[in-house]
Amino acid sequence: MRPTGPADPDRECPRCPRLVQFRTTLRQREPDWLNAPVPSFGPREARLLVVCLAPGLRGANRTGRPFTGDFAGDLLYETLKRHGFARGHYQARPDDGLTLVDCRITNAVRCVPPQNKPLGTEVASCRTFLTNTIAEMPRLRAILALGRIAHDSVVICFGARPSAVPFAHASAHRTGEVALYDSYHCSRQNTNTGRLTPKMFDAVIAKIRAELDRGS
Ligand code: SF4
Repeated sequence: MRPTGPADPDRECPRCPRLVQFRTTLRQREPDWLNAPVPSFGPREARLLVVCLAPGLRGANRTGRPFTGDFAGDLLYETLKRHGFARGHYQARPDDGLTLVDCRITNAVRCVPPQNKPLGTEVASCRTFLTNTIAEMPRLRAILALGRIAHDSVVICFGARPSAVPFAHASAHRTGEVALYDSYHCSRQNTNTGRLTPKMFDAVIAKIRAELDRGS
């Protein structure tokens, strides 16, 4: 896979009218927030790419760094640190000094959607940036999709049909040299309801760690 364009959208990306309108409203209401497409976090040379759905309203959309400032970041970064994919002390601020190690995080949809629910057309419009993000990572060996929408978008990036590669928590799929792992999203809702426990999430990251270590 080769990049066909930029991996990061312009701050004023116009492709999704509903999301453009939402971020314009947010810029007026919250002028100190980012309110723009959120860039990927972590080195391009990483072997692991974590793909999430979209920025959280008061998380990445506010702070400008994926998973930073909302509940999901607490679980994600703690778990990544435990398995050597992050270093430092996560303090929910983009200037907290946390760094990712052999790991990068991006969103399937770069702009915050109302109610955290992007439309199918918005996922499709933003897929070009996801495809280019994947394509610009020369050492990529594993992708972790958090949730079905992120999973399906990754599958389409690789030219397959989601119905042929269905999402299933803790499953792994092969896409050439890259393995695609699935997990339920580490959101507050999923952890509060017990759909995803910290132990279940840890097991997925541990599996990726073990497989990368085997292949290194
Ligand atoms: S979601 Fe993606 S494609 Fe849509 S406006 Fe934002 S950056 Fe552009």
